Amino acid sequence: MLITMHPQATQEEIKEVVKQIESIGFKPHLIPGAQRTAIGITGNTGTIDPVTFEYLPGVSDVIRVSKPYKLVSREVKPENTVVKVGSVSIGTDDLTIIAGPCSVETLEQTMAVAEVVHSCGIGLFRAGAYKPRTSPYAFQGLGLEALKILAEVRDRYGLQIVTEALDEKSLELVEKYADMIQIGARNMQNFSLLRQAGQTKKPVLLKRGMSATLEELLLAAEYILSEGNYQVVLCERGVRTFADHTRNTLDLSIVPSVHRLSHLPILVDPSHGTGRREKVIPMARAAVAVGADGVIVEVHCQPEKALSDGPQALLPDMLVDMVDQLRQIHAVIHKERSKTQKV
Ligand code: PEP
Ligand code: MN
Repeated sequence: MLITMHPQATQEEIKEVVKQIESIGFKPHLIPGAQRTAIGITGNTGTIDPVTFEYLPGVSDVIRVSKPYKLVSREVKPENTVVKVGSVSIGTDDLTIIAGPCSVETLEQTMAVAEVVHSCGIGLFRAGAYKPRTSPYAFQGLGLEALKILAEVRDRYGLQIVTEALDEKSLELVEKYADMIQIGARNMQNFSLLRQAGQTKKPVLLKRGMSATLEELLLAAEYILSEGNYQVVLCERGVRTFADHTRNTLDLSIVPSVHRLSHLPILVDPSHGTGRREKVIPMARAAVAVGADGVIVEVHCQPEKALSDGPQALLPDMLVDMVDQLRQIHAVIHKERSKTQKV
């Protein structure tokens, strides 16, 4: 359910509606807009009679939200959400690029990549401290030691840190050390982890599960928003198909659908989406052309020695090249889009 307030509604009237929602056991979500304030109502304790709110002072409309996901939908919030990661904003007219190695392996390896990322004018650095590996015998990440290296990266280069939390314990540490919490594809439907991420004060990068539908992805995001954390960025990272020329099939068609159905930004990960270095730049170009809010890519200075995902890591000069190409494409797309509609 969504309550829209009159443009002239007072703070007192808004507070009163919030109080009423809480008094019947539901959770209010204030959604300030350019024209008026709206209040989303969530909860799983039955249905609400719209009459409860229709006649309260300051209320303009009481609307049933038709989609199964509520707070992430454009029905509830027509304006695009801008997600702030330190000084970087995602979901604006600027192109977002997140780059870094798959894993933190050593201080030297991480700093070497950070220097390249920083020199490209990129503000967001990715690297895994906790790695979700298919084999229990594969490199699992350096854990806390890696988080401390990432904190050094931030200190030295001013880069904002994006890193994955695998479970409730690692999430506590990632929340403390990083600027953005990544929830990986394998955890997209780990509902208790999603709820915990929703209770943090850090923005969340939520990756699409490898067999998840768009609706499942949006409902996963809904778990985070329903706990009160509205700073969520979605990420397409490829889905499983029968194709054997690629690690995953990068589903770029999800981007315009997300923009139509949701106000949340969406990034594309052509590294995990293809698994092969030579495919990363072409698919990153396509991602920007299709209107993605940005890309996240893996980079390594010596990919043949990487402890995870070496074959898909861009070399430093490839990153420089990619950034230049993406900025040119983005400028064209942006010009075209501002002539018509954003969505
Ligand atoms: C990653 O980004 O390091 C990662 C493991 O990605 P995904 O969850 O998409 O597989
Ligand atoms: Mn990886």
